Amino acid sequence: MNLDAALNADLHCHSVISDGTLSPEALAARAKAAGVQLWSLTDHDEIGGQSRAIAAARAAGLAYLTGTEISVSFAGRVVHIVGLGFDHEAPEIVAGLRATRGGREARARDMAAGLAEAGIPGAFEGALQYVSNPDLISRTHFARFLVDAGHCSDLPEVFRRFLTEGKPGFVPHKWAALKDAVGWITRAGGVAVIAHPGRYDFTPTEEYALITEFMAHGGRGIEVVTGSHTPAEFVKYTDTALEFGLLASRGSDFHSPAESRTDLGTLPPLADKLTPVWAALAARIHH
Ligand code: AMP
Ligand code: MN
Ligand code: MN
Ligand code: MN
Repeated sequence: MNLDAALNADLHCHSVISDGTLSPEALAARAKAAGVQLWSLTDHDEIGGQSRAIAAARAAGLAYLTGTEISVSFAGRVVHIVGLGFDHEAPEIVAGLRATRGGREARARDMAAGLAEAGIPGAFEGALQYVSNPDLISRTHFARFLVDAGHCSDLPEVFRRFLTEGKPGFVPHKWAALKDAVGWITRAGGVAVIAHPGRYDFTPTEEYALITEFMAHGGRGIEVVTGSHTPAEFVKYTDTALEFGLLASRGSDFHSPAESRTDLGTLPPLADKLTPVWAALAARIHH
């Protein structure tokens, strides 16, 4: 396999193990049908789907890198760090992610209390109907419930009105530390990648602080082409990757056929002048 920038790699998506709606097996088949050549399943704070994803990729004839997307508290905000190509059985990352997931149920109960005060009762039980991994109740599950119960017309509206900072269903949470998330991934043989940097609304100074701290902890990659970026941001973060000497990643962030604007494998390729993260992970690819 030619591991250059033109490879159709999709290294960011979610299954029912976190807040996606498809199984790892269905995602593998969908990625293969879309022409993806190298795939990674990156469930939020979870690697419980990795063995299934490895097997499903092999059955579909798809090259595979292990993956996860870790929620991190940084400068009073939540930043996502994607991990790729790590040993998914390394005890430290397994325990670290378990700790990061802890408290999601208590947070969900608090979210439901806030929503009840805003006139929406039963949201905890409602959201649970959409959850397949009881360890990973997410805002996305609440959003699906609120849409299906008729309170909002789509997921972005739910987040805007109910689930973002200052809104009735928002509950702040202490996620992993940047240093820990990057360390778990790196010490398990993988590469840590800043997910969708264009989504954080950071000032240039804050973004510089994130990138330099991330690199000081051993982080080596940044998402350039993602379903969360505009074409102008593909260009901006191409320059950022080159400026800082970061490995570039590409991924749809696909969650669901009904909800996601960007399907698996359909984004433009990385620019030729970038060094793709998969070039640094050749030895970690499952064939
Ligand atoms: P949580 O980890 O429980 O805080 O949930 C975060 C998830 O909510 C993200 O991974 C996205 O899938 C989803 N999300 C966040 N903001 C939005 C939005 N504006 N519209 C749709 N989904 C969103
Ligand atoms: Mn999500
Ligand atoms: Mn994310
Ligand atoms: Mn994601």
